[in-house]
Amino acid sequence: PNIKKQLVHPNHILSALQRVNDPATGQNIVQRGMVENIVIEGQRVQFNIVLPTLNMANKTELIFACISAVQTMFPGVEVDVQPLARTENVLNAEGTLPHVRNIIAVASGKGGVGKSTVASNLALALREMGASVGLVDADIYGPSIPTMFGIQGQKPKVQDVYGAPKLIPIEVFGIHVISIGNIIEPEQAVVLRGPRLSAIIRQFFNDCVWPPLDYLVVDLPPGTGDVQLSLVQTVSVTGVVLVTTPQDVALADAIKAMAMFELPQINVPILGVVENMSWFTPEELPDNKYYLFGSGGGKKLALKSKSILLGQIPIVQGIREAGDLGKPIVLHNEPITKKAFMDVAKSLVRQVAMRHENLAPTQKVDVNAKM
Ligand code: ADP
Repeated sequence: PNIKKQLVHPNHILSALQRVNDPATGQNIVQRGMVENIVIEGQRVQFNIVLPTLNMANKTELIFACISAVQTMFPGVEVDVQPLARTENVLNAEGTLPHVRNIIAVASGKGGVGKSTVASNLALALREMGASVGLVDADIYGPSIPTMFGIQGQKPKVQDVYGAPKLIPIEVFGIHVISIGNIIEPEQAVVLRGPRLSAIIRQFFNDCVWPPLDYLVVDLPPGTGDVQLSLVQTVSVTGVVLVTTPQDVALADAIKAMAMFELPQINVPILGVVENMSWFTPEELPDNKYYLFGSGGGKKLALKSKSILLGQIPIVQGIREAGDLGKPIVLHNEPITKKAFMDVAKSLVRQVAMRHENLAPTQKVDVNAKM
């Protein structure tokens, strides 16, 4: 009997080629959109492998890996692989970062409301739920993520990808992290403007080797500025999490930050609001809540943004201490704060699912669009 599998469809070839990894990124070549024009004629198959340059170092190995993957599944088949050079970034074959499912921007109206604390603990809480997670610290005015994760002064490793140097995010506590603080000196970061600033923001996404991720959390600077604009021009942002404190003064600024994302030219959905520093509970009086900064700000902002209150985080000395010590509070298994952040992560996951159900994918903002 003929035990040879019959080639019937290009999908069979694609499933064989899924076992071949792009040497530059470690992701499979099918997922990266590098396989094109599959033609099957009897026992012969031909296809193109799209490469950024024909001079890439591992070209021959990659071609042999393709031939062998197909022949392992379909012995006796003749395989003809034609490399094809395309100047545009293969990473962007299907839009920027096709292997990152969700890009979540964490925004606030003012500094000091705990935006970075929420972004970091949220990223770790998502990881704890089993997701693969990355974290970008784009807060040029005060990149606090290196301190919170204990990676101050660490420089990301650089890897050669098809002849171009790419940054490898730093792996810490099970997530992949990169901060503007790991790339340039803080005093240089604050004076960045215009094109230089957008170049750095683009670098986080286009010149970093991100593994496949469920969530890439981006900690934005407070307010509405160039970083926000560069972000929405560089990637398709799934949605925004707004962080605010309960008092009304914080609210006014938070509404401005929210309004920017809701501009028709930008159009990034607000996924929800996290109210931070909602109340203080002394350890010796665990049932008492003192609303030091008033109350209701988170709810009001959620209403304004037609989203939901994802959760409320109390004021706890341990949150600050954990951040200062380089290991965010979620990792300390302190029950009250841990639950608060896990609840935020769970509601966020639900909101993201609903967002995908109800709304079209976000479009990157045209760089030439009038704002
Ligand atoms: P932002 O990113 O909005 O500027 P940070 O996350 O850096 O704010 O927080 C500012 C300071 O407040 C930090 O020292 C942080 O540890 C502390 N902090 C944030 N949230 C809380 C909280 N819920 N309880 C106690 N301290 C907090």
